[in-house]
This record gives sequence, structure tokens and C-alpha cells, in this order.
Amino acid sequence: MSTMMNLNELYAFSKDMSNSERLPSIFFGHGSPMNAIQDNVFTQTFKTIGQKFDKPKAIMCISAHWETKGTKITAMLEPRTIHDFYGFPRVLHEIQYPAHGSPALAKDTASLISMKEIILDHEWGLDHGTWSVLRHVYPNADIPVLQLSIDVNMSFAEHYALAQELQQLRTKGVLVIGSGNMVHNLGMVDWARLDEQFAFDWALEASDLMKEFIMKGNTKGLLDLPKSNTACTLAIPTPEHFIPLLYVMGMKDQQDTISLFNDIAVAGSLTMTSVMIG
Ligand code: ZN
Repeated sequence: MSTMMNLNELYAFSKDMSNSERLPSIFFGHGSPMNAIQDNVFTQTFKTIGQKFDKPKAIMCISAHWETKGTKITAMLEPRTIHDFYGFPRVLHEIQYPAHGSPALAKDTASLISMKEIILDHEWGLDHGTWSVLRHVYPNADIPVLQLSIDVNMSFAEHYALAQELQQLRTKGVLVIGSGNMVHNLGMVDWARLDEQFAFDWALEASDLMKEFIMKGNTKGLLDLPKSNTACTLAIPTPEHFIPLLYVMGMKDQQDTISLFNDIAVAGSLTMTSVMIG
């Protein structure tokens, strides 16, 4: 594919923001970066999930691994593959996910937001929260991918409200995904049992409460979670891996169904639980 051809296609994107089939929105529990190259129960599900709905025209990901001051959206044509981890095998550092970006969609998306200004970003790219999942879901990397950052100065309620302003992307052929982990406490990971599927009692308690709120559409419950009880404080010691879930929940409207997949805990203090809306 020539760059010129893609430029034309991408320029056409903004003119092609006509209503199309309504896409779901998905929160992916991404877990270890090694999932990018492993064939396991989680990645096998990632590989099949895209067959459940039409191929999107573009993907926008809210990744736990892009925290910024102010909300940014990647607006470059060729986002780089970012290897934002260390201590992993070289093969993981050599992975490329060469999806294009879409400057036109970045601009259009920014214009949908009225609650704040969205900054068009030309520095970031695709971090492992995004590509470790997408290389299983769409291995051909033939769909433009954008990232929307997590503004560290926003409350949970503000993140949720921002997501609601983006709901119409679902009818414009854009697959909005969040990538994080609902229960995510690296400080309490049982490193000797890293590959084992089990949860500490508190992780199970927090996970059950999260799932109850998700399935019942209890937004207030989700937004108040970190201060709900000791189990949730341990499950969400820092907010960044939880916030992508709020963006996906913000994509939901009354007609949507909610389903879970990869509802499994690993290493005691991480859950891979993933959520599909719609
Ligand atoms: Zn992560």
C-alpha cells in the first residue's frame, strides 16, 4: 500500500462518518506484556472476538499505559510501536504493530468533545496496552488505530462523562476499546505463581463487586469503587488500569447487552476479566 493511497483513504474518513452498523465497545484485561506473544486461554479468546461483529473502519483505544496532563489523541499517520516495559525477552521488544493512524479521525473525534479541549498528539504512538491485544484481535494491522490518553487530573466521573460524549463513534464504524485490568496490584503479585490462575480473597471480593456493578449497569457503584472497602482499595491501588473500563462503560446505552469473557484471575492480584458492551 502506498502512503499516498492511504492518505486519500484517511482523508475520506471524515467525509465517510455516516451512520453504519453499531459496533460494540470492549474492555480488554491485558495482563502481562508476554500475552502479546503467548498462545494461551486469554489470547485465544482475543483471536476470536473480532469475528462477532463487522470489521471496524478504525479503532480507538484508551490504554492504561498512556497517562498525560490534559486529554490527548494520537493524530499522526504512522504511529510508532512503543515498547514501554523492561526485563522482557528481546523478541517482545522486536514486535511491530504497523497499523496506520488517522489524522482525520483524530480531528473529528476531538471535535465531538465539548467538556474540554482535546490535544492532537504527534509524539506518542501505540503502547503495549494497545498492541499486545490488537495483534491477536486484528493480526494484519490493517485497520487505523488511535489512542486517547488518560488525563491524570480527571476524576472517575469526568472520565465517564467524557466517554459518553464519544458514544456516537460506535455508529461511525469506530471500535472503541479500553485496555487495562480491573483488579491490578503488581505489589501483591505472587511472583512464584505468576502463571497460575488463582485470586487472593480480597481480589475475588473486589472482582465480584465490580462484575455485579457492571452487569447491573450501576455506574455510581463503579465510580465510587476505590473507596468502597478494603478489598477495592487493594484492587485499585492506582487508577490507570481501571479507568479504561470507565470509558467502555460510558459507551453503553439502554439497548446494549453486557457480557464478560476471560473472567479469570492470575498470580493472586490480577484479573483478566474483560467486558463487551453491545
Ligand atoms: Zn498494563
